[in-house]
Amino acid sequence: MADQNNEQLHAMRHSLAHIMATAVTRIWPEAKLGVGPVVENGFYYDIDIPDVTISTDDFKRIEKEMIKVINQKQVFERSEKTIDEALEWAKSAKQPYKEELLNDLKRSGTTVAKDLNADELGTIANGNSAVDNVSFYTNSNFTDLCRGPHVESTGKVGAFKLMRIAGAYWRGKEGNPQMQRLYGVAFDTKEELNNHLQMLEEAKKRDHRKLGQELDIFVISDLVGPGLPLFTPRGTILRKELVKYSEELQRSVGYEETWNPHMTRVELYKTSGHYDKYPERFDVSSVESEDKFMLKPMNCPHHTQIYASKPRSYRDLPIRYMETTTMYRDEKSGELHGLSRVRSLTQDDSHAFVRHDQIEDEMRGILSIVKRMYQTLGLELSVDLSFRDDGDNYFGDKKAWDDAQAIIENIAKEEELNYKIELGEAAFYGPKIDIYVSDALGRKWQCATVQLDYVQPERFELEYTDENGEKKRPAMVHKAILGSIERFLSVYIEHTAGRFPIWLAPEQLRILQVKDSPEIENFVDEITALAKASGVRVEVDRANDSISKKIRNSQLMKVPYVLVIGEKELETRRVTPRTRLDLVNDDHTDSEYAFEDFILGIVRESKDRSAKSSL
Ligand SMILES: [Zn+2]
Ligand SMILES: [Zn+2]
Repeated sequence: MADQNNEQLHAMRHSLAHIMATAVTRIWPEAKLGVGPVVENGFYYDIDIPDVTISTDDFKRIEKEMIKVINQKQVFERSEKTIDEALEWAKSAKQPYKEELLNDLKRSGTTVAKDLNADELGTIANGNSAVDNVSFYTNSNFTDLCRGPHVESTGKVGAFKLMRIAGAYWRGKEGNPQMQRLYGVAFDTKEELNNHLQMLEEAKKRDHRKLGQELDIFVISDLVGPGLPLFTPRGTILRKELVKYSEELQRSVGYEETWNPHMTRVELYKTSGHYDKYPERFDVSSVESEDKFMLKPMNCPHHTQIYASKPRSYRDLPIRYMETTTMYRDEKSGELHGLSRVRSLTQDDSHAFVRHDQIEDEMRGILSIVKRMYQTLGLELSVDLSFRDDGDNYFGDKKAWDDAQAIIENIAKEEELNYKIELGEAAFYGPKIDIYVSDALGRKWQCATVQLDYVQPERFELEYTDENGEKKRPAMVHKAILGSIERFLSVYIEHTAGRFPIWLAPEQLRILQVKDSPEIENFVDEITALAKASGVRVEVDRANDSISKKIRNSQLMKVPYVLVIGEKELETRRVTPRTRLDLVNDDHTDSEYAFEDFILGIVRESKDRSAKSSL
């Protein structure tokens, strides 16, 4: 049922791309059309109009024209032409981009699927070399090369809105003509559309790049370079607390810490087989040495070298290394985005070298700590089990795969994970468990991953001696709990809108002094000293502002607890903390505490990593 709905929604969104192209060509008959695929939540069309730059001011006009087309309930009629007839059509319709696609199709039997897949093209291509006919869809006067499917008529397309216009190179290739990519979103109902637009508004408010600045978490410096975020003292507390927890969890299932340099001879990556697969590596040159070096884009090959440094017996296994370390990938500057897409990413990475009979326990241990991490963080998990299909592009014997996949699914069941199986999504070297979190806005993000790998042990010729004295290959289990800390923070800042739980809050307590008096100042110092000695992250606001302004400032910084200290507090040596709203339990009342008890309460909450205030 869900699939049927998805297909229907897909057809509807794609039909809207045609309707938009119909409207655009009605307004600008000279418009040349590229491709018009479906994307998440909507659709786009790449358009080239000589001497015209579409702006958001034109959206009303285009939408109005689209609604006319929709109200005319034009039927989408499918027809076929031979390739040569289709080429004739493209020429006479003055559609050079379609002509190019058709020529490619004629030459190779497919539109060049190297840079865009057939789905993205929104066109033909049945993938075989013998393409005789291509299909067209016509609504009223508008005809487009297309493989469908479409809804029945333009009247059946739900609710839509044009969102933005952006430049895009034809077929994604620099040097090709610049197209104007016109984006829209579409949903079955007006209500769903409105919900989506509301979500986007909320997402804008929570944008981690904006909050990251306001909450003083990270900065990007031109001199350091794009994609290389710098973390402030506050941001570094967040990172360290997350990593501390991740490492605590990993230690609890037997992982030991290692340390590797950030660069290596390229031979390491040639041996692992990653060298050619990582065009986004950063090469490093040496003045003196003939050797070529690179910054590490991952961690796995390095760990194999620690394993391989001495003989291993079956009794030593599993051998488990963990390392939270920064890696470097030369992402395209156009794709860099705040903390979610960076050039320096830090993973809570680990590798276990195990006997085949130990895979199950290893996976179970890892999944249990992944679950705990995300439970603590208040993020809901869903899991894709990425398994192989019947294709033959997988390494290793089928039996080992089947066993491993059965083990993985069994654990997913036992751990009551919300999982689905994705056939054909495995890595060539082994099955994967891809773990997604859902944030407060209902968006899904991949964070954690667990992967089973038979290939790297093979390539590095890793061995252990079994109970009969024979050499055997271990398997390797890769995992990251948070994934990239930077990327995780981008998700988590937006999920919490910067209201971090107490254990993560860079500033847990702020003390506001009401009145300028030496006695009150002494009392504030006394509380601050106790808080600091107890490990509470505390700041004192002694600025010459009104108390209401100080309270507002603490709210802007989303500080969990605020104490206002004046005559009354000094006299009773008791405090009435103001608690950040999201921490307050339903039955919470503003209570008074001896200040020592209050500090102890924060320490307890922080230690328990609780999400709510227990005070
Ligand atoms: Zn179409
Ligand atoms: Zn790895």
